[in-house]
Amino acid sequence: MSTNKLNVEGVMLFEQPFARVPYENYRKVFRASQRNIEKEFAPVQTAAHDLAKRSKTGHSSTDDAIKSIDGMITRVENLKRKLSDLHTSSGTPTLGVMRERLQHLATVEDMQSTSSPEFARWADIRLDRWLVDWSLRNNKVKTAKTIAAERGVERLVDIELFSDIRRIEEALKRQTCTEALAWCSENKAALRKNTLEFDLRLQEYIELARAQKHVEAIAYSKKHLLPWQETHLPQIRQASALLCFPPTTACGPYKRLYDLARWTTLVQSFRLAIYNLSTLPSEPLLHLAMYAGLASLKLPACYDTHRKNIDCPVCDSNLGRLAEEVPFSHHVNSTIVCRISGKIMDEDNMPLVFPNGQVYSKEALEDMAARNDGTVRCPRTGEKCNFSDLRKVFIS
Ligand SMILES: [Zn+2]
Repeated sequence: MSTNKLNVEGVMLFEQPFARVPYENYRKVFRASQRNIEKEFAPVQTAAHDLAKRSKTGHSSTDDAIKSIDGMITRVENLKRKLSDLHTSSGTPTLGVMRERLQHLATVEDMQSTSSPEFARWADIRLDRWLVDWSLRNNKVKTAKTIAAERGVERLVDIELFSDIRRIEEALKRQTCTEALAWCSENKAALRKNTLEFDLRLQEYIELARAQKHVEAIAYSKKHLLPWQETHLPQIRQASALLCFPPTTACGPYKRLYDLARWTTLVQSFRLAIYNLSTLPSEPLLHLAMYAGLASLKLPACYDTHRKNIDCPVCDSNLGRLAEEVPFSHHVNSTIVCRISGKIMDEDNMPLVFPNGQVYSKEALEDMAARNDGTVRCPRTGEKCNFSDLRKVFIS
């Protein structure tokens, strides 16, 4: 059964964020360790340097030397404790999540067929994960947590990431950039080409201008906007001129800077940046998977009220809405589905045509004829005729 062969590459196409999110989390743990090491090592190095210098010039007593070495030991021991705490509280759990997720993906590689029970179980877990992803993106946190707990997939879903997203977005909605800026600085390296940080800084500057705090605004601009002059000089110039305009100004470009709708744009830019960082698509994974399926089924007939097929998901008005933007399916060899039985018509189940031009499958019509003394009735028009009056249709 070659049609049931599992397309592992196709399955993996959806799974990049699944592996990427814990990886990004681990990178954060790693960076926090690095920062701690840098912070504690610099004073140790300075102290060691001083001690060496003083002992060379004979300015140091044994007591002083011991005191200085004790100080260094305390620092290094503190560092060791901090690193070990960090590893226990964040490092090990994150590694555990990463391992579990990679194992989950690895099991699919050994499966041969989509009809195997192992794949069905795997796909069930995937659907649970996608339902959680959908709920989190639609602010249904309780639902997400319930599904995750009941199905035992907590380590396979990103509840924490989305609670971070929500926390930072809520802050932006309250018109404060502090949380978002902290997130930017945590992810500075990864955000190199992103202008989110500049946009946040510009907004803080605009708020100072709005409050008519001109001295603070100028100081803020020097400190936080000027470093971006290589790439954002026109915006910085415009921002400087903003101080000449009151928040009530009717002058286009400055009115736009004062526009409070900029906060909504910031929320969107932030969400895009954090999704990009984790390679999460901007739409729920569930939708993406469904688009792929719907595109393979979608036909012009699906949107024609008289030609809808009860067995076709695209014909369903709710799913059809999701399918609106996907392309129509392109069948090199078109398949014709019987409207009575929902079965595919081919050489083994020939299509037969009524005198009125309606086509149904031979199997379904034979079945109907057997129950009605050789008479068949077109379910669409109600027209009746003898089974022998039906003509064969040849598909080319
Ligand atoms: Zn349809």
